[in-house]
Amino acid sequence: MTLSATELDRLDPLAAVRGDFFVVDPDLIYLDGNSLGRLPRSVPATLADAVTRQWGEGLVRSWAEWFDLPQRLGTKLAPIIGAEPDTTLVCDSTTQNLYRLAWAVLARNPHRNRIVTDDQNFPSDLYVLRAVAAQFGGSLTIVASNGVEGPVAGIQDALGDDVGLLSLSLVAYQSGYLYDGKSMSALARSVGALVLWDLSHAAGAVEISLRDWGADMAVGCGYKYLNGGPGAPAFLYVRADLSDELSSPIPGWFGHEDAFAFRREYRPVAGVGRFLVGTPPVLSSLAMEAGLDILNQVGVPAVREKSMLQTRLFLELWQDRLVQHGLSLASPTDPDRRGAHITLAHADALAISQALIHRKKVIPDFRPPNGLRLGLSPLYTSFADIEEAVVRVESVMREGSYEPYRGERPRIT
Ligand SMILES: *Cc1c(COP(=O)(O)O)cnc(C)c1O
Repeated sequence: MTLSATELDRLDPLAAVRGDFFVVDPDLIYLDGNSLGRLPRSVPATLADAVTRQWGEGLVRSWAEWFDLPQRLGTKLAPIIGAEPDTTLVCDSTTQNLYRLAWAVLARNPHRNRIVTDDQNFPSDLYVLRAVAAQFGGSLTIVASNGVEGPVAGIQDALGDDVGLLSLSLVAYQSGYLYDGKSMSALARSVGALVLWDLSHAAGAVEISLRDWGADMAVGCGYKYLNGGPGAPAFLYVRADLSDELSSPIPGWFGHEDAFAFRREYRPVAGVGRFLVGTPPVLSSLAMEAGLDILNQVGVPAVREKSMLQTRLFLELWQDRLVQHGLSLASPTDPDRRGAHITLAHADALAISQALIHRKKVIPDFRPPNGLRLGLSPLYTSFADIEEAVVRVESVMREGSYEPYRGERPRIT
């Protein structure tokens, strides 16, 4: 091992950022920030003001502050995903945003009605992409991977002149495999298809340059590494010179060029704003701003640098202490090809995760069929947390304290 966890913490330029988040129990090791990020400290005061002053006192007059929240938060998100100004909205859920964008692509050119994705993509994405392709008389091609690495060559083979859309998760939710966004975007372009990235497990964790990649569209979650809170709106991105060629399958009044003119005819606003539908969730939008501010202050390159040290430390400790207990690596070994979470495979992964939660104060999650998923969210996870988490996993394995949890299947894992 190159440096100890203690040394790494001492040298960590982001160590103080943990103080921007609520950490109620310092002994609890939270390794699920890729599923629900921690609460930024300033959010309770922001929400109290939003409720009592803006809503309670301001009443409908406060819409002056609220009306353009999707655009305003989109502007704050833009640097985090390498997008140019006015191309990004914070709105709705990832699944809804994916549907509207995928539909818009096939509607624009119904002759190209096949969509290509891979088997590491999130199930909700697969459902949506399959349904959209079917609506246009086409089909969804799901390219098979080995479960760890993205099937780049297979995707190349699957593309053809009937393909309108390539849609992939930049970071796979199970393995953490990280695609090369630039080369895959170029690959889609070379066959005349558009590319739609799902950045849910990537935004706020890895460097993303949508503009430089020439990426066409993207969607992603607000509540994972962006720390937007439960029910935070998601986001969507459309390349600046593409949005006016696209139309939304839900022509709602928030996407109208003049919503408060109340015209009977729908006229979409110029630009990405046409993908808005209806009234935004104001309180959860306001709760999301603090997480974006923290990330912008720190900058994604610094986050990624820390993240790569963290996953490397974790894998060194895994090698020393966990391999011998039958926990195998289900994430890429190449640091340039993985995001900020690591998945270990074990036939009893669900029971192990339950034992960690209930007996060891470690919170990972479980993803079928056999994945113990450990999110190392760099903004508030210390190197010491990572070392201690491995020690606790090792003790669960040595004691066999997961055995009583075999056969349990909690509703949320
Ligand atoms: C978490 C996640 C989602 C969640 O979608 P919602 O509609 O916001 O619930 C979608 N896609 C991917 C790739 C995810 O990781």
